[in-house]
Amino acid sequence: MTGWLDLPADTGFGLGNLPYGVFSTAGTRPRTGVAIGGSVLDLHGVTGDDAHATGSLNAFMARGPEAWGALRSDLTEWLTDAAHRERVEPHLVPQGEVTMHLPVEVADYVDFYSSRHHAENLGRMFRPDSAALTPNWKHLPIGYHGRSGTVRVSGTPVVRPSGQRKAPTDDAPTFGPSQRLDIEAEVGFVVGTPSDLGRPVPLGAFPEHVFGVCLVNDWSARDLQSWEYVPLGPFLGKSFLTSVSPWVVPLAALDEARVAPPARDPKPLPYLDDTGSEPWGLDIAIEVHLNGELISCPPFDLMYWTPAQQLAHMTVNGASLRTGDLYASGTVSGPRPDQRGSFIELSWGGEEPLRLADGSTRTFLEDGDVVTLTATAPGAGGRRISLGEVTGRIEPASAR
Ligand code: MN
Repeated sequence: MTGWLDLPADTGFGLGNLPYGVFSTAGTRPRTGVAIGGSVLDLHGVTGDDAHATGSLNAFMARGPEAWGALRSDLTEWLTDAAHRERVEPHLVPQGEVTMHLPVEVADYVDFYSSRHHAENLGRMFRPDSAALTPNWKHLPIGYHGRSGTVRVSGTPVVRPSGQRKAPTDDAPTFGPSQRLDIEAEVGFVVGTPSDLGRPVPLGAFPEHVFGVCLVNDWSARDLQSWEYVPLGPFLGKSFLTSVSPWVVPLAALDEARVAPPARDPKPLPYLDDTGSEPWGLDIAIEVHLNGELISCPPFDLMYWTPAQQLAHMTVNGASLRTGDLYASGTVSGPRPDQRGSFIELSWGGEEPLRLADGSTRTFLEDGDVVTLTATAPGAGGRRISLGEVTGRIEPASAR
């Protein structure tokens, strides 16, 4: 599919992608845009629809899948048919001139734990004397509620958190900057259509509720986490910052990326059993870069639980969804060492430092380090679509 736009054949932001974000240019207010090639299409400018002038995607996402589909087909026509060029072209802004903002006003934030390889790696490290997977792991997608107010857009500085740390060999906890600051490479799912309290969302309703997909870096302070997490789960070791990519890729752009998830044994309970439907495994290839060097390639297609199963589980007790809810997949790790989505796995708990191209080594993150996650997925016509990137630079702990 080509249009009047002269797009490079290898752009990850072609007509098959059309992700939504919130941008501003110097002296203007944040508004909704769509990435196309090296440009951003100003949606408020081109449509005149005030939903696109609110500074978040929420108002548009709340309209539901018919509205999402209608705008996507309009955009495709406007950017393809030369008859629209004169009207549309003045609303294209070069990406180099824009500042990107948090795309979504995040309502509730949930983080799952759905990579079998990640859960097995962590289980072996944290609980060496028990089975790698907890007894519930293959029966339900384990998750926790995080802190939506500290979800920020890519580029937000990552100030090293301070807190209580206590190694098993220490007599007492100490307070100070985290010495085991880590990443978690994840994929996030953004809810558009809300649901009613008391009415579970079945597996098949996933595309009616989920608007799109972004990249998530769930920054994690492992020393704070390992001391605080028993028995109620992650808390301050996670809640200091969660970074998301600025572009939300619509679910409709991922049609070609759908794949069968791994076989599940034992068979999940009926509300989680996707064997009779077209399941929602997604072939998203993630890359983790440290200071510009590629250090890992986590494969999302191996995730044990799909985002549709996560949504069904998250609401099976009657919990309602709100527009802007964000839920993340959990750290994505594959079976190979170079497919691990966190430094605690890449350095095996800090015991096997990662060797970098410049000869230095790394266990956990140092001040000044820059971590960037990128991802692509198969798109229409054999092209790949880009999920953009989420990046962050580690800043020293604040003085107290
Ligand atoms: Mn996580």
